[in-house]
This record gives sequence, structure tokens and C-alpha cells, in this order.
Amino acid sequence: MATTHEYDVVIVGAGPAGMCAALYTGRSMLRTLVLERGMPGGELLNTEKLDDWIGEKSILGWELAQKFEEHSRLFGAEYVTANVTTVRRTDEGTFETITDTDDVYKSPAVIVTAGGTPIKLGIPGEVEYAGKGVSYCAICDGAFFRNQRIAVVGGGDAAVEEADFLTRYAEKVYVVHRRDTFRASRILQERLFANPKVEVVWNTVAEEVVGDEQGLMKALRVRNVDTGLVGTLDVNGCFVFIGFRPNTGIIDGHFEHDAMGYIVTDSMMQTSIPGLFAAGDLRSQLTRQVTTAVGDATTAAIAVEKYLKARSEGGHAVDPLGSGGYAV
Ligand code: NAP
Repeated sequence: MATTHEYDVVIVGAGPAGMCAALYTGRSMLRTLVLERGMPGGELLNTEKLDDWIGEKSILGWELAQKFEEHSRLFGAEYVTANVTTVRRTDEGTFETITDTDDVYKSPAVIVTAGGTPIKLGIPGEVEYAGKGVSYCAICDGAFFRNQRIAVVGGGDAAVEEADFLTRYAEKVYVVHRRDTFRASRILQERLFANPKVEVVWNTVAEEVVGDEQGLMKALRVRNVDTGLVGTLDVNGCFVFIGFRPNTGIIDGHFEHDAMGYIVTDSMMQTSIPGLFAAGDLRSQLTRQVTTAVGDATTAAIAVEKYLKARSEGGHAVDPLGSGGYAV
């Protein structure tokens, strides 16, 4: 049966940003609820190993996710498995976070850390070999392909830039693109074309990720869209960069966003909707790393505490970088 619950702050999403925000709001003695539709961990659960989490030379994605969750629960944050459909600011200036089972969580502040979703190819083997050859993050996984042959799929800025980046590790990078021109910016294309380790496979689509007996990727089956000819690239990795969607569809009402749909915040991580904060991959910013997500989240959690204090005193907490302070 659908019920209504009240908290000081509701956090939507339990990736690194959500769990870190929960640690800080819990530590500030705020009644904290984290709503997550799957297992806590977010993109960490799509990452086999990390070698850029400062303090750990190498750590498995799921292991770091587990540590984050345990630590964030220490200070009292509650976790509920739920699929959030709507985050709505009411006329009274509080929020209703509503799930697909019609449960309603009321709170004066919400931190949205719902991340983003890389667009998938939707070909056989893609899901099966995710983390075993198939990747959506060059910075996270590139180093695991030292001296190997890999493919990159896509023809936008991300594919072209990351293909060039991946040659730091890989011996050979095939860029598989469905047309005969890239949509990527000229400068990125020129850099790519000048790279001797790169070979562009034009007018070609990926059709199947093929694995070996050990359950690791060993080849990518491809098809030329002009000739219909089918071929195989002997590669151990396939990086897919065909676009990324921030998970912002749950926010009811207009909020400021950039041209790609990522949420714009002030320096306190507050969105253009007062009391609604955002952290992690769905925020408009230069890069999307675990370290930047937890940095955003720390700021957002501390800002929420100040926001709630200012609200209870009927006052104003001011964004130090000048966005004008909180309307409470
Ligand atoms: P994007 O610009 O949307 O490009 C997606 C690419 O994937 C396109 O080349 C598209 O082919 C291809 N594609 C889409 N669906 C496909 C499918 N099912 N199978 C095969 N190929 C498919 O995405 P993005 O490269 O991730 O970039 C997103 C935004 O971030 C862009 O605005 C980009 O400028 C920006 N960005 C900028 C930088 C930078 O400036 N350094 C770096 C990364 C991203 P078609 O071309 O045929 O449509």
C-alpha cells in the first residue's frame, strides 16, 4: 500500500555521489533517505577495476561500492530500494519524491544524484561482455588494454577523442563508424587522423561481440552498410561512445540545464529550483569521475545543511561565488 514518509533530505540515486552525500547529511544529524532502484554503486558496478581512486592502487568497482555504502550507513542514512518517477517542489516550498509504487517521500530538500546512462549498441554479446571487454569509459578502463587491440564505436567528439586517448595503452585502435564522415569537431578529427595507431573503419556497424572460452571478449563482428560484407575485428576490447543521457527526466518542472541536458548548478550545487541540489554525472561540468562526483556530493550535503538552517531561521545562506543565495 502506498504510504507517505518524512525526512530532512531525500537523496535520489546511490552511486558514489549519492552515498557520499548521505554520509555527510547523516553526519550532520539530518534524517536522510537514499532511494535507489538497483544495488547501491551506480557506475562503479559497471567498472571492473579502478586505479585512479586516490589511496587505492587498484580496487574492484563492486568492492569500492560496498565500502561507500557501509561507510555512509554508519551515520544513520536509510536506504530504500525504489524506482523514483517524480521529484516535485510543492507550493509550500517542500518536495515530494514519488516512486512507481506511489509512495511519497516528503522533505524540505532533495539531492538528485541519479547519474546518466551511456547509450548502448543493443547488439548480441554487449551485455554479456560488459566489463570483460565492452566498456563505456576510456579513462576508467583504458589502462586494462595495454598493448592490446581494441575497437571504438561512434563518430562524435567522445568517440574520436577517446579513441586517440586509448592509443596511450592500446597497440591498435579501430574506430568503427556507421557513416563516411565524423560529426566530431575538426581539431579532434585531425588529431585522430595523425595518430598512426588508429585505423578508421568507415560505413560500418558493430553487429556482435564475440567471446572466448574464458568468457572474455575476443572479437567484434562488423558489417559494411554499403556492401553488406560481414567481417571480424580481432580485438579484446570494444569502447562504445554513441551518446550519453543524464537521468533528469524525474524532475518535474523547468530547471536550468546546458545544451546537452545536464543540470546547471551554482557553486553550492543548488539547481535553479530552490532546495533541489544536484551532484555527480548528471551535473554540467568538465569531467565525470568518482572523485568529482564525491566532491560535488560533499558540497551539496553541506549546502543542504546550511539551506535547512537558513530556512528554519527564515534567512538566506549565500553562495560564496555569487549566485545570490538561497530563496527559501
Ligand atoms: P554524439 O555527438 O551524439 O555522437 C554520437 C555518435 O555515435 C555519432 O557519430 C553517431 O553517428 C554515433 N551513433 C549514434 N547511435 C549509434 C548507433 N546505434 N550505432 C552506431 N553509431 C551510433 O555523442 P558524444 O560523442 O557522446 O558527444 C555528446 C556531446 O558531448 C556532444 O555535444 C559533444 O560535442 C560533447 N563532447 C565534447 C567533447 C569535447 O569537446 N572534447 C568530448 C566528448 C563529448 P552519426 O554521426 O551517424 O549520427
